[in-house]
Amino acid sequence: MVKRTIVTIDEEKCTGCGKCVAPCAEGAIEIIDGKAKVMSEDLCDGMGYCIGICPEGAITIEERETLEFNEEKAESQPKKSDISIRCFNCNKGEDEVYLLPLRHEMKSEWVCTRCLPMLIHG
Ligand code: SF4
Ligand SMILES: [Zn+2]
Repeated sequence: MVKRTIVTIDEEKCTGCGKCVAPCAEGAIEIIDGKAKVMSEDLCDGMGYCIGICPEGAITIEERETLEFNEEKAESQPKKSDISIRCFNCNKGEDEVYLLPLRHEMKSEWVCTRCLPMLIHG
């Protein structure tokens, strides 16, 4: 066991929408009985990509005693794709563009790097 940062999912807030599953590059999150779960704590590197994506604010990062992150195991997890992950502006998917999670007016969206400058410069 080591002390490090790791994701925590609040089951009360989670609606099981599944939006956090594919964005987790480590394949650590799955929906079980309608709730998101970190399948094995050694799969979560605590980077927190999933945090901004959750529309319910159910995901947080905390520092606690847990298993050490296992990079090899994470690499060998099947990669999940989600065709609903598309740029809110141009509607292109991750096969065509680089996508970043975006928060605006309490909503979680994706934006591609081509459309992002438009948001930065107004
Ligand atoms: S994105 Fe949030 S509400 Fe949706 S499944 Fe993941 S933790 Fe639950
Ligand atoms: Zn775009």
